[in-house]
Amino acid sequence: MSIIDKTAAVPAPRGGDHTGPLLEVRDLHVEFHTRDGVAKAVNGVNYSVNAGETLAVLGESGSGKSVTAQAIMGILDMPPGKIPQGEILFRGEDMLKMSEEERRKIRGRKIAMIFQDALSSLNPVLTVGYQLGEMFRVHHGMSKKDAKVKAIELMDKVKIPAAKARVSDYPHQFSGGMRQRIMIAMALALEPDLIIADEPTTALDVTVQAQVMDLLAELQQEIAVMYAGRIVEQAPVHELYKRPAHPYTRGLLDSIPRLDQKGQELYAIKGLPPNLLKVPTGCAFNPRCPKADDLCRTEIPALVPVTEQNGADLPGRKSACHFWKETIHG
Ligand code: ADP
Ligand code: MG
Repeated sequence: MSIIDKTAAVPAPRGGDHTGPLLEVRDLHVEFHTRDGVAKAVNGVNYSVNAGETLAVLGESGSGKSVTAQAIMGILDMPPGKIPQGEILFRGEDMLKMSEEERRKIRGRKIAMIFQDALSSLNPVLTVGYQLGEMFRVHHGMSKKDAKVKAIELMDKVKIPAAKARVSDYPHQFSGGMRQRIMIAMALALEPDLIIADEPTTALDVTVQAQVMDLLAELQQEIAVMYAGRIVEQAPVHELYKRPAHPYTRGLLDSIPRLDQKGQELYAIKGLPPNLLKVPTGCAFNPRCPKADDLCRTEIPALVPVTEQNGADLPGRKSACHFWKETIHG
């Protein structure tokens, strides 16, 4: 069972004249109108990514990570999907208010997306060199020869061994990890300002996962944890691992397989993620939470700043738990 999925928004290393956040998601709501009712997949998500920052989103399957990424990329299936509320600002401009043509210009050129399934995203009958080179031929009008040189450069950049020799190989001749790197190379080819990586590593083994994440960003600076379409905790990565401030985060962290604890039984959060057609009242996590009481069953906790016991600031930390104090300090 794969419990942790990851979606990462990584600003590509490149400047710009806009001074605010590169990407700002404000009160985003996404719902799906199905025969059985309205599934509220994203329920008021807020986050921002500054130039040079990385934000990774964690949460069990179905928590809304991919739908959020699709909304940002403008590739949400509408219908059945609908965005009844919210703003998605790229360099300060709301992409939801742009024409399809304006969005298309940003997509691919300024924001690139890396999908999980590298094998089905690459064309099996064309060499990887051709497919990488195509980005330069089509978008920059390069000659075939120059494009091939660029393709090799990119393969080197994502650390594919013997790039020069392998540029003429086909996708099936590469391992899963190497194919994932080729996908990352494709995203980098157009030098986008922002790369949205939706679970780029779940299909790979742990060592390769670590390398790919390293490649995407030297440091995962911020993590947002999602549950039932809401961000329930946000923190700098090291802080989150050391001292989670939400019982769901604690459960997630306890259920990650650890290389140094072989043979030990894994913890699993009891119960299942909620049915989005019928989300529990109060905190959506309450039926599975060891700390839940009446307050949790009636009142949705707001995402509030988390502080030290003496009230001192914990920069960048927020939790949406009525009992965050007990959870982090207890
Ligand atoms: P995650 O990426 O966190 O695993 P998703 O963002 O893919 O989760 O999905 C969030 C919820 O939205 C899920 O309950 C999923 O079933 C629902 N969903 C996603 N796409 C569609 C769709 N096209 N039609 C109906 N429901 C959808
Ligand atoms: Mg997903």
